[in-house]
Amino acid sequence: MSQILLQVKCPHCEGTNVKKNGIKANGTQNFSCHPCHKQFQFAYQYKGADPRIKRQVRCMTFNGSGIRDIHRVLGVSIAGILMILRLWFKTLEEPVVQGHFKRVQIDEMWTFVKHRKQGKRWLWYAYDPDSGKILAFHIGKRNDSACKSLMKKLSHLQIDSYRTDDWKSYKKHIPPEKHIIAKAKTTHIERRNRDFRTHLKRLCRETVCFSKKDDMHYGIIKAYIFLRNKFGSLVKAEHTF
Ligand SMILES: [Zn+2]
Repeated sequence: MSQILLQVKCPHCEGTNVKKNGIKANGTQNFSCHPCHKQFQFAYQYKGADPRIKRQVRCMTFNGSGIRDIHRVLGVSIAGILMILRLWFKTLEEPVVQGHFKRVQIDEMWTFVKHRKQGKRWLWYAYDPDSGKILAFHIGKRNDSACKSLMKKLSHLQIDSYRTDDWKSYKKHIPPEKHIIAKAKTTHIERRNRDFRTHLKRLCRETVCFSKKDDMHYGIIKAYIFLRNKFGSLVKAEHTF
């Protein structure tokens, strides 16, 4: 009789210091990991429960794959993928920043949910070119109330100046002595800012296949901003997926 030994690795931290930890109700062996204290099973009966699969779903999402691509490649149901992403989005927060900012750039970007024309959603965001961080964002219409909502999210910060395009709502909600209006968008885009805009635009375009529902649209933009603020770029964030 020959025996095959399989090394059991923790799917959360890839550690091998693991021990058996009882049998699950469905009859499968449960393990616990010594270094990270998490529990796992060697073979998941439901793929979407496997932390490795969850990681791949997140990773593929930010590498331009739509939900159907992920479904085909990983074999997880569409409902399962949505669930994985929704639960993940819930753990991420909108930007939390404090302090003093010399110059903040505000912009509004056109995105959509489900329908290109009827489903327009404007992404409003405030960006600090000195730290490279997004200070706040809001998704809504291109109107005064959306502008107001964004400004409200900045109201606890000390901001010396705001740069915007010449969209009329800004004049109503930004004190004139702090407001710098750039006529054409391209003239006030600084180099460092350009990467961010390009990336976000691409993100909004590439993930439209996800954005059939507003909560997913919001979630994916929130996740992108969270990761970018925290790690500087998506490449640097990938290990956390
Ligand atoms: Zn572990």
